[in-house]
Amino acid sequence: MIGEALQLSRLVKRYDDTLAVDDLSLTVNAGEFMSVLGPSGSGKTSILSMVAGFERPSSGEIIIGSKEVTQLAPNDRNIGMVFQKYALFPHLTVRQNIAFPLKLKKRWKETWQSRADEMLELVQLASFADRLPAQLSGGQQQRVAVARALAFEPPLMLMDEPLGALDKKLREAMQIEIKRIQQSVGATILYVTHDQEEALTMSDRVAIMKSGRVMQIGTPIELYRSPKSTFVADFVGRMNFLEGESFARQDGGQDIRLCESITLTMPADYRSQTVSSVGQERVTIALRPEMLGIEAREETKPNRIPGVVEHSIFMGAHEVLIVRLSLPGRPAVEAQVPHVFSASPFKPGQEVDVIVEPNAMCCFSASERSAA
Ligand code: ADP
Ligand code: MG
Repeated sequence: MIGEALQLSRLVKRYDDTLAVDDLSLTVNAGEFMSVLGPSGSGKTSILSMVAGFERPSSGEIIIGSKEVTQLAPNDRNIGMVFQKYALFPHLTVRQNIAFPLKLKKRWKETWQSRADEMLELVQLASFADRLPAQLSGGQQQRVAVARALAFEPPLMLMDEPLGALDKKLREAMQIEIKRIQQSVGATILYVTHDQEEALTMSDRVAIMKSGRVMQIGTPIELYRSPKSTFVADFVGRMNFLEGESFARQDGGQDIRLCESITLTMPADYRSQTVSSVGQERVTIALRPEMLGIEAREETKPNRIPGVVEHSIFMGAHEVLIVRLSLPGRPAVEAQVPHVFSASPFKPGQEVDVIVEPNAMCCFSASERSAA
């Protein structure tokens, strides 16, 4: 394994009056694929620029392996880089592009040629070795860029939206490709994207950024199942939000009252961590579309919210139902139900119940929402 750990410690980046990165601490383990995910302007590129050495941190430390590199020039950091613009040398062939960084390193002085060929094999471009970049597709060019960045076995790879310019099909193929290469060489990768699907499918862990701060770091499953804020809940996957009032119950569970007549009852061990277990407070509940059940309206049963189907959208493997709820303000929720091969049993205008599984719900105190 070639990967080394990356440690960012209390990193701050200010540009004049913009606080681009605000007290960031983050460790990427050796061989780990870590993504930084966040909306545009949340500070992702600023983080990579500091790790690469293109920008000086306003304060804080950057450590690669056991070496502090905060003040080192980019060339002395031994980092591989791939950016959205592939930045291949247009006048050099594919093989020459890959060989370029090797020729600059003492370690590869004798073996750069065989190493370049090995990298060509790895990214499955051996038969394109003598072409110029302009004679390749976007995806092939990006594979050259990946091969060039990995060729000298950098202990750390930085990638800033490297697939942003590719169309969806090619992007998905390249996601698998990059992941395969990363695993086969054991590289440590810090990968920046604003595409949540990309982050979830590729990463061991994901750091979610907002306004220069890390909101949550976790495995894709942790972030999806147990978001710690409405921001993360909303940013990762699709999510419905409803407002209510929570009341602690004697047995340690909670009642969440959505209106006079509709209350959801949650057992003591349900997933909410963010709501106080005593007394009463305003809450926002978050429900994944695929965790909602939809059934024809029945007599009052617990944990059901009555509503009316507004739209049903065929998505191939499943159907999305938009259901207008019989609650104050008449909020709509999106539910994802398996597609049955016969016609949809749910038609616009039909009265249904939305069934809420206690364990499918996250609950946030309303004050968190305004603070986040
Ligand atoms: P992201 O990559 O997540 O879109 P950036 O790191 O590029 O975010 O930018 C974070 C914030 O810092 C933004 O508000 C951006 O306008 C600002 N910023 C980035 N680079 C510079 C710069 N060179 N000079 C001034 N402001 C900058
Ligand atoms: Mg950026």
